[in-house]
Amino acid sequence: MVQHDERLKQRDYLLRISKSLSAQLDVEAVLAQVIEYAVEIVAGNYGLIALHEQESDQLVIVASYNLPQSSWPTFAPLLRAVLHQATPPALAQEARAAVEALSLPLRQTVALPLLLAHEVIGMIVVFRAAVNVAFTADDRALLQAFADQAAVAVQNARLYQRAVRESQQLQAIIENSADGVMILDNRWRITTFNRAMELLTGWTREEAVGRPCAEVIGLLTPQGENLCLVACPLQNQHGPAPVAQGWMHTRDGRKRYLQTRYSPTTTADGAFGGAIANVRDITAQKRETDQQLTFISVVSHELKTPVAIIKGYADLLRRPDASWNEATVRDGLQIIEEEADRLNALLTNLLDVSRIQAGTLPLVFAPFALPAMVERVLQGIAATAGDQYMLEMRFAPQYPLVYGDEERIRMVVTNLLTNAVKYSPHGGTIRVGGWLEDEHALVYVADQGSGIAPENQTRIFERFYRVDDSLRRTTPGAGLGLFLAQAIVQAHGSRITVESQLGRGARFVFRLPIEHRQLAEPPVLPEDEARV
Ligand code: ADP
Repeated sequence: MVQHDERLKQRDYLLRISKSLSAQLDVEAVLAQVIEYAVEIVAGNYGLIALHEQESDQLVIVASYNLPQSSWPTFAPLLRAVLHQATPPALAQEARAAVEALSLPLRQTVALPLLLAHEVIGMIVVFRAAVNVAFTADDRALLQAFADQAAVAVQNARLYQRAVRESQQLQAIIENSADGVMILDNRWRITTFNRAMELLTGWTREEAVGRPCAEVIGLLTPQGENLCLVACPLQNQHGPAPVAQGWMHTRDGRKRYLQTRYSPTTTADGAFGGAIANVRDITAQKRETDQQLTFISVVSHELKTPVAIIKGYADLLRRPDASWNEATVRDGLQIIEEEADRLNALLTNLLDVSRIQAGTLPLVFAPFALPAMVERVLQGIAATAGDQYMLEMRFAPQYPLVYGDEERIRMVVTNLLTNAVKYSPHGGTIRVGGWLEDEHALVYVADQGSGIAPENQTRIFERFYRVDDSLRRTTPGAGLGLFLAQAIVQAHGSRITVESQLGRGARFVFRLPIEHRQLAEPPVLPEDEARV
């Protein structure tokens, strides 16, 4: 009867401690508790717990009771013997050796495996100090019952710890991904929003999480509608991963072209369970593709027009049934020549663009007199510009020789002056000149024409970019002139800048290096030049 009561008490005790163990998910705390309870259950004095390490196939002590950590290595031979299922006498010998090495009163030993699905995941060892009180079979049975419970608790805590670690790794991968990553729940609400997403969209994580995806990534259709609302890419869940792309206005006022690739997840009953979205900023590629398209349409138009004119005049002049007077023939041939020049200029520009892209635009640097070169260009422009233009040249007296590629700089000046004429449809004064600043020669071309809106002032230097207004539609051009001019000036270590107001003209400025030997005697500046 007494024994029966004792068993019940023990069972009750075991139940309580295994409950408290399974509520604990911190591996270290679980192990410390396990060894403490194990010692307590069999009224021991010391104890240690070792876990089996898969990689090294060793039992490694992970917690102890009443034994200092410095004593752990002493038990290594004993644990090795246990693991390799040494005979009882061999085990006893290893235990004795350990005990002797540690001048501690470890007189009785009981060692039991932590078993999980017949696999040994570790070992519990308990020692008693008393000499004559040996561990009984009952003690062993009780400890084994406890060890079985403890094995489950240890395993749970380890699994939990691994799950936490893996989830942290996943979070870190998502967080540090160069692509934007966001996770949506089954109601298209954002639950995860990484750092790259914050940079891409201008939304902070705190603002974005919890909001519908359509509100944060409002990609626009070509018609300017919210793509997620009119044609949610996630509605079509068949076939390959849905992809959406479009322009978006970021929260901080930028305009970016984004591509979103969704990986939808489904619940066990096949319903939409949410999605992981991978978001990329492909603005540069989009601009590139648009430029290619513009290139094809501009080039085909710009090439076709002169060819059509040349062919038209050639056909006309050689008609066998007509006899043209000399003046008509001369005019016709002059037009053919002009159009051929235009074709030639365009082809040269295209060739230069491809050279710039390949990084092989050849430049020949030498000192040259800029005002003399500009004067010749201006004469050429004046010959064709028309009476509504006043062309002025204002260079500081004794302007020094500049150092650069004269032919290329001539192209730059010609382009700026031609543009000044082209984009001043009502005429006006066109001024070209220069002064010295910070040991550099400054050159400017100013007009009183249509001007350029602020949002276009950087874009006009892009390849094939032409401002989309009525003037552009009536003015010939391939959108290459300023791109080339900028590349040439950059190769001289400077940049062309523009100051302009819409409808009030434009002024383009760039600097050139001064020929080195002349720096000793700077020329006199005219009083009003700095105010142009
Ligand atoms: P293109 O003249 O062949 O179009 P450019 O590269 O020379 O190409 O110029 C790009 C665009 O910049 C032009 O289409 C025009 O819209 C604008 N632009 C250039 N120069 C001026 C100017 N002086 N005044 C107003 N707009 C200009």
